[in-house]
Amino acid sequence: MLPLVALVGRPNVGKSTLFNALTRTRDALVHDQPGVTRDRNYGVARPEGMRPFAVVDTGGIAGEDEGLAGATARQARAAAEEADLVLFIVDGREGPSALDDDILRWLRKAARPTLLVVNKTDGIDVRAAIAEFARYGFEDVIAVSSAHRQGIDELLEDVMKRLPEEGTSVELDADPERIRVAFIGRPNVGKSTLVNRLLGEERMIASEVPGTTRDAVSVDMERDGRRYRLVDTAGLRRKRSVDEAVEKFSIIKTLAAIEECQVAVVMLDAGEGVTDQDASVLGYALDAGRALVVAVNKWDGQTDYQRQQTENLLVRKLAFVEWAEAVRISAKHGSGLRELFAAIHRAHRSATTEIGTSEVTKAMEIAYETNPPPVVRGHAPKLRFAHPGGVNPPTFIVHGTRLRTLADSYKRYLENFFRKRFKLVGTPVRFIFKEGT
Ligand code: GDP
Ligand code: GDP
Repeated sequence: MLPLVALVGRPNVGKSTLFNALTRTRDALVHDQPGVTRDRNYGVARPEGMRPFAVVDTGGIAGEDEGLAGATARQARAAAEEADLVLFIVDGREGPSALDDDILRWLRKAARPTLLVVNKTDGIDVRAAIAEFARYGFEDVIAVSSAHRQGIDELLEDVMKRLPEEGTSVELDADPERIRVAFIGRPNVGKSTLVNRLLGEERMIASEVPGTTRDAVSVDMERDGRRYRLVDTAGLRRKRSVDEAVEKFSIIKTLAAIEECQVAVVMLDAGEGVTDQDASVLGYALDAGRALVVAVNKWDGQTDYQRQQTENLLVRKLAFVEWAEAVRISAKHGSGLRELFAAIHRAHRSATTEIGTSEVTKAMEIAYETNPPPVVRGHAPKLRFAHPGGVNPPTFIVHGTRLRTLADSYKRYLENFFRKRFKLVGTPVRFIFKEGT
């Protein structure tokens, strides 16, 4: 289960700055690809050596209950009420304000475990800043400077102590042969139709895996002699109306499913192309480094002309994940499913197969000799050697000198070279560049 931490506080205390400090990816290559829209309110923190958790920036809690601001406030409250831990952020420079008092009153009613975080404590008397909030009655107070990343490690340690027990995820790797697949996507793309068809057709509901999150259900199934676990699949939850489906679309559950799966199948509706919400779901899967298959559903309802239009659109809009296979399916009629599962297997194999050190070293040598990086200001970066750095996603560690000056185009060349050589499809590939030997 992926615990949820909500950032609550009045405007301008530094919530989004803290959000970024917690969720920023260490890997610059994975981030900032054009085409990925990022929802700035939700993210996953993956602190080194610690348990990952979802973070939601709730915006403002105290607010009028009318209009747009009201809707935002209601959403914020709903997120905070569901959270495993609330971080109540206040401004250490300005001290307590009437709005802070309002939020505190609301937090007490909500009765979620809460930690007081005094932000912006860079360059000021920290003890005096904390003392100003003494009347709020928090036993533990953490002082941070989100902008300068001070106190963040202490904050993370405190967060870890307060998250609920890990649940039953020990089971996760019990069966290494069982591929963990998540069908994700925005409401109405056809997730439940597909999952019900898969389970109905194969009549294989072997066992419902007890939910580790509130109402998440995973289910095991077999298909063509292979074992799968459909993790935290929204489609497994029966719903009565479209409204309910939309309401139940929870980004947190999508994030949890991504975290638990090995292969994320992102479903799109062929009639709608690639919407911003689709691109943001794709972005979450990318951030997690998951193997990825795009399933373009409702292919049955399209004329030839529409299909051609959709094909063009996919090429253009999915350029940022061109390594991912896109499969056309009809969940309703069951067509394209063989291709879908073949793609899932290729992605899984690519993501999890270990590649030997000597093979990686050799690949690096050839890539380098065929096409050494160009000279920048009189010097050229030197790639000395490479070795494997892990799977899921496949990671390659490259040692050399002047690697900071390595052009993005050269990194892309390396990625493509390695992809071809090791037949890696359907998975992101990571390079870590290490200066020196
Ligand atoms: P939000 O409205 O609560 O999301 O606040 P923001 O994250 O947008 O921050 C509001 C302002 O405070 C911005 O100008 C930030 O640069 C600034 N800020 C945020 N964190 C810190 C901090 O730790 N120290 C200082 N000095 N300024 C900060
Ligand atoms: P979910 O919210 O992603 O689980 O979507 P549903 O499975 O509830 O499907 C939403 C709507 O799309 C329903 O009316 C389905 O009947 C319809 N639908 C799902 N798959 C297909 C398909 O392959 N073709 C067509 N034409 N309609 C589909």
